[in-house]
Amino acid sequence: MKKLHTLAFLTIGAAAFAQTPDPEITAAAEALEDQVIEWRHDIHEHPELSNREFETAAKIAKHLKSLGIEVETEVAKTGVVGVLKGDHPGKVVALRADIDALPVTERNNLPFKSEVTATFMGEETGVMHACGHDTHVAILMGTAQILAENKDKIHGTVKFVFQPAEEGAPPGEEGGAALMIKEGVLKNPDVDTIFGLHINSATPVGTIAYKPGGTMAAVERFVVKIQGKQTHGSQPWGGVDPIYIAAKIIDGFQSIISRESNLLVEPAVITVGKISGGVRFNIIPETAELIGTVRTLDPDMRELIIDRMTEMSEGLAKAYGGSATIEFQSNTAITYNDLALTEQMLPTLKRVAGEDHVKLVKATTGGEDFSYYQEEVPGLFFFLGGMTPGNTEAYPHHTPDFQIDDDGLLLGVKTMSQLTLDYLNAK
Ligand SMILES: [Zn+2]
Ligand SMILES: [Zn+2]
Repeated sequence: MKKLHTLAFLTIGAAAFAQTPDPEITAAAEALEDQVIEWRHDIHEHPELSNREFETAAKIAKHLKSLGIEVETEVAKTGVVGVLKGDHPGKVVALRADIDALPVTERNNLPFKSEVTATFMGEETGVMHACGHDTHVAILMGTAQILAENKDKIHGTVKFVFQPAEEGAPPGEEGGAALMIKEGVLKNPDVDTIFGLHINSATPVGTIAYKPGGTMAAVERFVVKIQGKQTHGSQPWGGVDPIYIAAKIIDGFQSIISRESNLLVEPAVITVGKISGGVRFNIIPETAELIGTVRTLDPDMRELIIDRMTEMSEGLAKAYGGSATIEFQSNTAITYNDLALTEQMLPTLKRVAGEDHVKLVKATTGGEDFSYYQEEVPGLFFFLGGMTPGNTEAYPHHTPDFQIDDDGLLLGVKTMSQLTLDYLNAK
């Protein structure tokens, strides 16, 4: 059975919370704004690639220690985890910021523009915070300071998770959220809930965008290996044609989306991005290979699509006299916002940003490794506006002209701080 993704969360149980944000937290965030922006500029000017975030991690660790927060370094290679115990007992909330930059050469003319270069997969490249993770680092450093200074208000424990390699570890290395979890980031003390945000270059400053349920896609890479039997191109009856089988399988895959997936629940995508096989015009080759990606937003649909792709590959190859295997590699799970948690925390988002500045958005087919935490504990991941007010267009993430307006950071600090307090202090 498919889950019904009702919009029941829109009727909110707001009674537990005041309608305006905590004035002391608001004032503290506003007083810290210039410092947060300064941190952001520094991190932006000194970006580091995935699993190589040594200096970034050192700056974070130094700051957390200065606040009296218990710090563990070298978690999942370059990750930093801080534990802040509130003055009162209670639950454990984790706040996550990803800290890595990308092999992109910055084309902006900012005073804090990155001039950093590095070697990536054997090639010299510029390095840039072209996904905005510099803002995530600065926002969480600011949030840590505010919460540390308000320990007396906290019923429970806050874990600050500064995570490397969200963009993916270099080939042959482990990294990111999956490795943090493997190394026990959600244990001791055991995390009850996790919050995370992503700055967005095309959402106006001051706006929060969110979606309950599947928010960003599970990303799978797949490889289909088709085995035929080689023969002369003029005598196909003498062999088994893997190219023809490849065509049947590609066609079959698209029927899984168009005929078998309930697209009213969520969209889904199968893309064959590479097809290879054969050597010349008059040889039917022995093998062919398909490589592609699957994007899903609903756990049941994900299972169905993967199962059916496996059956299609094996079954169709067999029907045409050959054989095939398919392998899937998971790059991210579904960034799935727990429905009850989203309902619980929506009033906080609204009172911090203002009712009119919290937008319900559609899912995206991009992926986020925050999803791995959400497979373990209920989590909420939302988007924070980073586009200069008045602009209607923005350069996309991962491009050399990508820009985030500093004015977007303050709302991030306020929201992360208030989410933490409201979650931990809920009756
Ligand atoms: Zn990115
Ligand atoms: Zn990102």
